[in-house]
Amino acid sequence: MISSQEALAKLKQGNQRFVDCQFKATEQIDQSSRSAKAASQAPFAIILGCADSRTPAELIFDQGLGELFVVRVAGNIAAASQIGSIEYAVESFGTPLVVVMGHTNCGAVNATVDFMAKGDVPFESDSLTALVKRIAPSVQPLLKNDNSNHAEVKQLGVSANVKTSMQDLVNESPVLQKAIEDERLQIVGAEYSLETGEVKFL
Ligand SMILES: [Zn+2]
Repeated sequence: MISSQEALAKLKQGNQRFVDCQFKATEQIDQSSRSAKAASQAPFAIILGCADSRTPAELIFDQGLGELFVVRVAGNIAAASQIGSIEYAVESFGTPLVVVMGHTNCGAVNATVDFMAKGDVPFESDSLTALVKRIAPSVQPLLKNDNSNHAEVKQLGVSANVKTSMQDLVNESPVLQKAIEDERLQIVGAEYSLETGEVKFL
């Protein structure tokens, strides 16, 4: 397995190809590559990203089958099932890098800002309310008063929420903590721009 720095470099190179529309990964997918990877996998990076239809990690980083272990959920939150999935990949495949990737104009962050601004009026769905409540602590400090600029809060909320998910991964997972201590794992944050296709690492 490659190092976390090499993994990060591969992602940056792949994102540059995506920005330049010079795709390489999908060209290499054919029947023989599918069958060659059927028995096992060794993904070099784990991406915790948003479920948003415009943020597919394999395309954004121009990576093929078996390269990325991708966990996607609205608002790229780190709840138990996301943490468990990431622990599984780290322990089973020795994957050295986790990227928590938020994105501009995130519907989950926007909904949370609107939810907080209204004063905690719950959604009809308990599941949706639970999701928004997980993002709320990241947004709350940015909403300083009634006159806060909500567009700005929605923008700043993206990186604040990425940082919270990074902390949750460490704080709620002794497995990931141990992997970081042993220098087998690095967790980094990133923000993807829907407008330009560029991923900025935080
Ligand atoms: Zn989103």
